[in-house]
Amino acid sequence: MDLKSEHLPNALDRIAAWRCDPFSVQKCPACDVAGIEIIDRSARPYSEWYALKCGACGLDAALHIPLPGPAGY
Ligand SMILES: [Zn+2]
Repeated sequence: MDLKSEHLPNALDRIAAWRCDPFSVQKCPACDVAGIEIIDRSARPYSEWYALKCGACGLDAALHIPLPGPAGY
């Protein structure tokens, strides 16, 4: 299942929280069940990719977050 656009802000929130603390347990942006899998597939410094998977609702989404480039780091 893909991420719906109305869940995108949630997903970005959860990814931000997960990046601050990779050992924290994040909730699914779609069904709010705790324990989604977040996989960092980023190609830094140009873009960030995250895969989100939820066993409860079957969410399986890839999120692309554009980066400003090396100057941003
Ligand atoms: Zn879910």
